[in-house]
Amino acid sequence: MNGKESGSGGIGSLGELLVEFVCTEKDSHNRRAAPYVGPFASGAPGIFIDQAARVGARAIFAGAVGDDAFGDVLRARFDEAGVSNALIRTFPGVPTGSAFVSYNTDGSRDFVFNIAHSAAAHFPRDADAIETLRGFGLAAFHISGSTLGDPSMAKAALGICRALHEAGVAISFDPNIRKELLTDPSYMETVRSLLSISTFVLPSVEDAEVLFPGESFETFSRRFHANGARYVVLKRGDKGCIGSGSDGPVEAFDAHQVDVVDPTGAGDCFCATFVALIVYGQFSFREALERANAAGALAVGRIGPMEGNSTLAEIETFLEGRS
Ligand code: ATP
Ligand code: MG
Repeated sequence: MNGKESGSGGIGSLGELLVEFVCTEKDSHNRRAAPYVGPFASGAPGIFIDQAARVGARAIFAGAVGDDAFGDVLRARFDEAGVSNALIRTFPGVPTGSAFVSYNTDGSRDFVFNIAHSAAAHFPRDADAIETLRGFGLAAFHISGSTLGDPSMAKAALGICRALHEAGVAISFDPNIRKELLTDPSYMETVRSLLSISTFVLPSVEDAEVLFPGESFETFSRRFHANGARYVVLKRGDKGCIGSGSDGPVEAFDAHQVDVVDPTGAGDCFCATFVALIVYGQFSFREALERANAAGALAVGRIGPMEGNSTLAEIETFLEGRS
């Protein structure tokens, strides 16, 4: 895939850029002294754009880092993946955003985030930034619900998505619902607004349980297709995925049997692979879904939120080894 030179069909995203530290002992809940590894480049939309670039998309990200070592970690990571740095800004006076994750033996995880009061909250959103995004030749623009927790970030993200949607760019949305915000009317309003303009609707099982309670995939996907969504895909964790295009049958894949080292980021990696391969245009819906399912399995096998991201060649090799 050689999308980087094509000048069209680009993929963009925006939101929080974070470094992440992963506790290497289970059940610490981030509440006692324990060893951590990091800093790893992270932030859900950052994981997405890194993977989109790795599978060959021309990629751009609107984000901000602090003037510190962690900011350098993120810049170096995007440079290595080939993500455009035209809209990566250094925001003075506050540190780069961060996240600390600790896994529990029951499979749950505890996070401590530093987003709203860090550089991460200050992703570019001015008229120049929107113009740069428009001028990039975007085919798709992705939003993760993780960006919507802070009201000013949510407002900016929605405004940019509306502007790009009006300009004909396909919006991709992973709701990544934050349960503690479900009672906040403006948060839910933003989620609903994004769902209503999305071409790619990419919830996880946890998202579907709160957004479409009691509904089967067939029921809610049909509603989104009737409303104009082209692709609806449900990420089912260790049960794989199920999805449909507006003009084709429902397709499903079981998850690949792999050793799970660090599941954080699998969803973002999955979404990026799927969107990039659809945009690239050389893969059928089923083939793109199959590769996204493989990319998600590869993602859980490495410690660090985007360390398990993979190239298209690595995905194909993995699938060949499984057939
Ligand atoms: P996140 O936890 O990063 O928010 P998510 O909840 O949005 O992710 P998941 O359903 O957990 O998304 O994972 C995305 C995809 O990755 C799954 O649909 C599946 O293809 C793959 N995947 C996730 N967990 C596993 C696993 N344990 N084994 C194999 N594949 C997996
Ligand atoms: Mg998950």
